[in-house]
Amino acid sequence: MWKKIALTTIAVVGIGVGTAYAESSLPTVYHVYMDGNQIGTVENKEKIETYVEEHVEDAEQKHEDWDLSLRENLTFEEQKVLSVKDEEPKVLKELDEEMSLAVDVVRLQVNGQAVAHLPSKEKAEEVIEKVKEQHVDTEVLEEQGAEQTEEVPVGESRVTEVRLSEAVTFDDQKVSPSQVHTVKQAVSKIKKGDGYAPSSTKGGRMVASLKTPQEPLLDVLVTERERKEKTIEHKVEIKKTDELYEGETKVKQKGAEGKKELLVERSFRNSKEEKEEILQEKVVKEPVTKVVLKGTKPAPSKGSGDFIWPAVGGTITSKQGERWGRYHKGIDIAGVSDKTIKASDNGKVIEAGMRKSFGNKVVIDHGNGYETIYAHMSSISVKEGQVIQRGEKIGVMGTTGRSTGIHLHFEIHKNGSLENPLSHVSQ
Ligand SMILES: [Zn+2]
Repeated sequence: MWKKIALTTIAVVGIGVGTAYAESSLPTVYHVYMDGNQIGTVENKEKIETYVEEHVEDAEQKHEDWDLSLRENLTFEEQKVLSVKDEEPKVLKELDEEMSLAVDVVRLQVNGQAVAHLPSKEKAEEVIEKVKEQHVDTEVLEEQGAEQTEEVPVGESRVTEVRLSEAVTFDDQKVSPSQVHTVKQAVSKIKKGDGYAPSSTKGGRMVASLKTPQEPLLDVLVTERERKEKTIEHKVEIKKTDELYEGETKVKQKGAEGKKELLVERSFRNSKEEKEEILQEKVVKEPVTKVVLKGTKPAPSKGSGDFIWPAVGGTITSKQGERWGRYHKGIDIAGVSDKTIKASDNGKVIEAGMRKSFGNKVVIDHGNGYETIYAHMSSISVKEGQVIQRGEKIGVMGTTGRSTGIHLHFEIHKNGSLENPLSHVSQ
């Protein structure tokens, strides 16, 4: 490239004035100067110029994307002389030894600190794109250029900004070919924080590096916005009422979850989340409070006189009457899959505990002359003095005490006399 090579010819006039020869008929020579120092005199200036041009072109062919020029300033001084003394071999030898090449580069600086020399502005910009691509998808980066006026739809997120943490600047420089970087080298320098030596040796042995891994020269800052829906839990309100007995509850109003829409902004530094902020919050659907009624009316300890079957299903395996030479005072119920034992009527627990032959035994006084007895339970879930409602759980069917298998022994007494349970309950 001719224009890149600074070759100037300065005509020196007035030499040989007053001689007998016409100046135009005298031979011309050229004094060759390299950065102001004369390196010889030649007759054929074009030959020197072509020699330099070819040297530059050879190098350009090896690096197609480089803009090369001769680093030294080569000038010629024209002179008319009487006798020619051509030093072409000396000039060529001098050029071979002294001339060097310069590459026009774009210098990439981070916060004013030089990082790399790229052959063009496009390559320098590519370096920045590649650095960003380590943390952001290429497609997302391409979208960044376009205007984003529409809102982020519900259920979606979008990258709204990609920035660099430090100031990156480009300027034009001339450097020697050995100082030119590829895009890959420049990206690596930024990523590794430049010339970091990963390990050092001492006495021939590797010394474990105590240094933290080198920080990158700059961080990629990404901002993302997401619009999402979130459930609003409903409240539970408990209202007391004397229309229900103590311990009884009733749902007056079913609760329902509400819904809100959030616009969340997240900031990432080199793919690591740093901050999350709620930018907007809008209630789309108000939640409905669940209203529960809770009884305050004292539970009756007086029985209704109307008894219920004290087990969950099952069959009668033994009735009241003579058995094995003794009188069986109650009925036996067995063959259940759910072993829950229930109070046969409202009343007050007057006995609850382990007895020798009855095993775990509960006696309920129904306050109306009636008493019921439950025996052989594996466990008891009520206490003496406890007021209990008809159908409430009092224990679990078992085979404690004098018993030959899992069953419930159930008796009913009225004013101290035995009653036949089957006159009061049926399966
Ligand atoms: Zn029995």
